[in-house]
Amino acid sequence: MHFEIKTLRLIEPFRIAHGTSATRQVLRASNAEFVTEAPFVPYYGEDPVQTLALLTQALLPEQLPRSAGLALNLLRHEIIGHQTGRSLGAFAESKLGPPVHPAPPGCRSFSIPTDLDAFADKVRDISQQFPVLKLKLGSGDLGLDIATVSVARHAAPDAKLLLDVNGGWDMAEAPLMIEKLAEYDPALIEQPIHHRLGVEGWEELRALLPGNPPPIFADESIHTVEDIIALADFVDGVNIKLLKCGSLDAAVAMIATAKEQSLQILLGCMIETSLGTTAAAHLAPWADWIDLDGHFYVANDDYIGIDYDTQGNLIMPGRPGIGAIPR
Ligand SMILES: [Mg+2]
Repeated sequence: MHFEIKTLRLIEPFRIAHGTSATRQVLRASNAEFVTEAPFVPYYGEDPVQTLALLTQALLPEQLPRSAGLALNLLRHEIIGHQTGRSLGAFAESKLGPPVHPAPPGCRSFSIPTDLDAFADKVRDISQQFPVLKLKLGSGDLGLDIATVSVARHAAPDAKLLLDVNGGWDMAEAPLMIEKLAEYDPALIEQPIHHRLGVEGWEELRALLPGNPPPIFADESIHTVEDIIALADFVDGVNIKLLKCGSLDAAVAMIATAKEQSLQILLGCMIETSLGTTAAAHLAPWADWIDLDGHFYVANDDYIGIDYDTQGNLIMPGRPGIGAIPR
């Protein structure tokens, strides 16, 4: 088994409520020709160098960093997939049953804009292919958040808009902003309040919301099956990502729980290469929304995996295991 860190250069700096990045790092785990990836995100505070040092010890620690746990879990699935000729999606189907609908349409994300005219042009351009657009809000400037949504709505009148606040509003701002932004007909609003506010925060927000608000989703507040159950009465959907769940198996279990709780599912990813987004994409047929565009931000994506057709429909690679191959 071999581990290494790969530094991803971003095509342009990516700005969200948590901060701005120009590079990101991913952990690569490999065994013979089998390679998997798990991202490091600033939000979890896991240090790539420390993680690599832990993994190169003679004896692996019992409690692995999140990224290491995911990379190893995916490596097991990748090897079994090749041994059995089955994809990760076939594994998910063995647990979740056959999908009831095709994979949802593709989505592209936009980081917090700095130039609204350039942003409008980009939205107009990308919405020609992608019917779903995810806008990052929580800029710290409520006027900019509203302008971002207004500009996008006018540039792409027919697009489904997913608004992701990344916890950037406080309890006084969130109900007012949700009411205001409902005018632009968003398909959902994700993580309006900070995850530190806990279940009580979500309960309070739900009580303060106007009648018939847009669907409200939790992202940073959801890491486990137990989190989903605790929030089920206060949210309409959850964002599930492989890194948050820590393994493909845990992601499948969280999808099953979300369905039992009648919650919508948004399948997300981090900024990672096609090796990472393709692994996650195997769960797309069980999601209501997908946000699997992390590799589009990477200038040095060294894998080929998922793709999107001219209508923004997800195309899976059709190979065993993860199915991504070196570029
Ligand atoms: Mg999010």
